[in-house]
Amino acid sequence: MKLAILGATGSIGQSALDLAEHFPDYIEITALTCGRNVELLARAILRHRPALVAVHGPEERAALERLLTEMGLAARPAVLCGEEGLVAAAAESGAEVVLSAIVGGAGLIPTFAAARAGLKLAIANKETLVMAGDLLMPLAARAGAEIVPVDSEHSAIFQILGGLRSPSVRRLILTASGGPFRGLTVDDLERVTIEEALNHPRWVMGPKITCDSATMMNKGLEIIEAHHLFGLAYDQLEVLIHPQSVVHSIVEYQDGAQLMQAGPTDMRQAIAYALSVPDRWPLLPDGSTGGLPNYRPVDLPRFAFNQWRGHLTFEEPDFATFRALRLAEGAGRTGGTAPTILCSANEEAVELFLAGAVGFADIARLVEQTLNALPARPLTSVEQALNLRREARRLTKSFSLDLRR
Ligand code: NAD
Ligand code: MG
Repeated sequence: MKLAILGATGSIGQSALDLAEHFPDYIEITALTCGRNVELLARAILRHRPALVAVHGPEERAALERLLTEMGLAARPAVLCGEEGLVAAAAESGAEVVLSAIVGGAGLIPTFAAARAGLKLAIANKETLVMAGDLLMPLAARAGAEIVPVDSEHSAIFQILGGLRSPSVRRLILTASGGPFRGLTVDDLERVTIEEALNHPRWVMGPKITCDSATMMNKGLEIIEAHHLFGLAYDQLEVLIHPQSVVHSIVEYQDGAQLMQAGPTDMRQAIAYALSVPDRWPLLPDGSTGGLPNYRPVDLPRFAFNQWRGHLTFEEPDFATFRALRLAEGAGRTGGTAPTILCSANEEAVELFLAGAVGFADIARLVEQTLNALPARPLTSVEQALNLRREARRLTKSFSLDLRR
């Protein structure tokens, strides 16, 4: 299968490239993109030989061209940059499948480009679904672009349902690890540090989603993501805290049956399934293949993370402490531009927190303030979503200056 990876230098992108390296018979890379990490991209180019690559801007393009010259690569890829480059990588590299794995609203334009081109879209970039799912899902349907989830919870549900739609589903229960601050109080959260927020107990991921997991905004974004992907009402979407992260989500059917999907806390399973569906690739050693390095099924009675000694636990989330979860659910229920505003304000607030400009508890505060300041309207175009993203981020930043006074 011919694959383009948007965000190839990120956590998801690197996991996907690992799959491509171990399953060269299944995956051929046609395009790779990155923001600024051109050294890592150059290494991936050397190994996977895409025809086209795209980087952030002219400076990064020049730096990458220099690296490729040093490497003495005989057949060089076309090196593009900016929005044009991202769109070309998404829609014009000859790929059959596009893995959308850029972080944040920066992924919106190329993700829409892939959908418009009618390509199969493996979507990790949840922010695009949150900001503009009302536009993306119908566009994909019109263009004949198949959408498959990569986010582990949504992949779990997709694996259980065997698709995105099933008439007999009663509820979806998204599991959440609870992040590093599970059990803390509102006061405790005022004092947590950047290092603590970036220390996720179960998953290794990029900094933005790791911080979102600590505030639980991530689970809020995932509720909205599930609403769009599976076409269910918010009353049918729930969250349970499951600190072991063994069960990746649960589908409850109308007859009371609850089907759960369990697996390693390793995104390579969800990425591989998004690419291989309806087949499954032998990620585990099977005699003829060695399988993926450092990849094991969960050993249920004694999973390595054994402070729970084989017990799987499920509990209600603490909505009062982790306010981001309610804010996101509320924005989802309001609909229209409310999730666009929420997602953009959060992106800005997380960047401010990770830069040391605001405290951890300020993230939810700033998101709420921005949501209150911008009225929700119907969402009618991608351009409107992008304008609103700029406006929401600007407002969040200005509110953060007031916090510091
Ligand atoms: P990351 O920060 O590790 O990587 C982000 C990628 O996007 C990098 O390749 C970076 O160069 C690129 N990028 C960043 N800003 C850009 C810009 N302005 N223009 C172009 N490219 C840009 O992020 P990640 O953890 O791999 O997450 C990627 C997406 O997948 C996010 O939407 C996240 O929510 C989702 N996701 C990630 C995980 C995970 O395990 N990491 C799990 C579920 C969902
Ligand atoms: Mg997830």
